[in-house]
Amino acid sequence: MKSKILFGKPVSDKIKKQIITDVRKLSLKNIVPKLAAILIGNDPASKIYINNKRRTFIQMGCKSNIYHLENNAKEEDVIILIEKLNKNNDVHGILVQLPVPKHINPSNLIKSISYKKDVDGLHAMNMGFLMQGNPNFIPCTPFGCLKILDHYGIETNSKNVVIIGRSNLVGKPLQVLLSQKLSNGNATVTLCHSKTINLRDYTLKADIIIVAVGHPNILTDDMVKNNVVIIDVGINRINDNSSKGYYITGDVDYNNLLPKVKAITPVPGGVGIMTVTMLLYNTVKSANRIN
Ligand code: NAP
Repeated sequence: MKSKILFGKPVSDKIKKQIITDVRKLSLKNIVPKLAAILIGNDPASKIYINNKRRTFIQMGCKSNIYHLENNAKEEDVIILIEKLNKNNDVHGILVQLPVPKHINPSNLIKSISYKKDVDGLHAMNMGFLMQGNPNFIPCTPFGCLKILDHYGIETNSKNVVIIGRSNLVGKPLQVLLSQKLSNGNATVTLCHSKTINLRDYTLKADIIIVAVGHPNILTDDMVKNNVVIIDVGINRINDNSSKGYYITGDVDYNNLLPKVKAITPVPGGVGIMTVTMLLYNTVKSANRIN
């Protein structure tokens, strides 16, 4: 059996085509979709992510301002900045790059973003809309996973889906989205986490497995049935002797799983690009709404 590799780029390219049209239409009204991205501290991975987002926005004719605050920034000062950005009509999307330093509660920051500009989809209002089956902004990584499944024609209807990882960012919204009474939902979804006993008992029954844990090789070939579809959300940085000093790998044992699966996303090259694309999508959607 030849397995199919689910690359993110063709999916992203298709969505970006539509975004280019939308950005052109907005430019006729002198509107340029703009993201305000807040980075607190000097986490190297966060810097890379936020700069990648900025590069994509600029390539697509949009704007992205990075507000880089010191590691010791006070929570109340970040909230003051967010409130200013909420009132700025030129700003259509606001995000706080996670994780933030330990002395800051990320929930307080997310709560202070206007839900109308919460293009990461993490505000309680947006989470609530999602739960009700009437999403406003869908969180970018889960949204990207759904777009990959849809683009490659992977049916979710009546399938057994196992999600490993229950974060607000990835696992929980995916559970809600995939179980909704919608064409790319209607799955029976099991949400596993670090307290799940015998993870393998669940993964062996799954038609689709989505892994968002942050540990390499959490899913191995003895844990899946033949013909499973695997979406690997994980991004792990492993130090090595290369010129970069590290390489990036996902959460699954990709090489050993490949011969057994029906389809699988690579890392890098799978979900990552979709997260940025859906952030762009949400920001352009917001610009269309606000203006
Ligand atoms: P997170 O908030 O740390 O959540 C990790 C989840 O994994 C938790 O629910 C945790 O369970 C669960 N877990 C930990 N060890 C486990 C184990 N041994 N067995 C089963 N479950 C286990 O992480 P996150 O923000 O969701 O991110 C997860 C991964 O995805 C990270 O590698 C991150 O870098 C990556 N990510 C990638 C993208 C992208 O664009 N590709 C976007 C976002 C995140 P408990 O809840 O019980 O602790």
